[in-house]
Amino acid sequence: MARHTDAVCRLCRREGVKLFLKGQRCYTEKCAIDRRAYPPGQQGQARPRFSEYGVQLREKQKLKRFYGVLETQFRNYFAMAGRMKGATGENLLLLLERRLDNVLYRMGLAASRAQARQWIRHRHVHVGGHLVTIPAFLVRQGAVVEIKEKSRASSAVQRAIAVTESHQVPGWLRVDRANCRGEVTGLPTRDDIDLSINEQLVVELYSR
Ligand code: SF4
Repeated sequence: MARHTDAVCRLCRREGVKLFLKGQRCYTEKCAIDRRAYPPGQQGQARPRFSEYGVQLREKQKLKRFYGVLETQFRNYFAMAGRMKGATGENLLLLLERRLDNVLYRMGLAASRAQARQWIRHRHVHVGGHLVTIPAFLVRQGAVVEIKEKSRASSAVQRAIAVTESHQVPGWLRVDRANCRGEVTGLPTRDDIDLSINEQLVVELYSR
């Protein structure tokens, strides 16, 4: 499977916002955005000038990188969002929010979406009592997501849960941290998405 292999903090610096790609480090003073709040590379400190296309592209890249999705899959989400009722941009965000790796992270059962993806692929996660190994799995209302019993005591899981203790769990999820499980009690709304993003720019980019 294709994946991003460059230093992930460069992605946050490129987009100019914290994308929370590194788990615990993102919440410490070691965060690269806090230390070097300008884009990476030799021209990083020069004042950027973006065309209309450039602004749209940056917004799309920010969203893709926040959820850890690559281009082809992202386009598929966009196509799916376009076939749904309502605004395409908002549908796109809500689809991404329902990904299993994001849900695990939002519940505070993984320190980052990347870590959640790893646990899902490594067969540590059950949904509704069944093993699910696909990070892109879209959860439905009423789904119970849990780290399987055998894996709960592992130091990595316990460390992740300790790191995320102060995380705010969104209102559409209910979490039982002691038992490493949570329930999807509703569906996300636009207000639940804490990334500063103008999804309309993404729609305009793909509508060119
Ligand atoms: Fe982004 Fe986290 Fe790196 Fe900060 S520490 S730049 S939030 S990945």
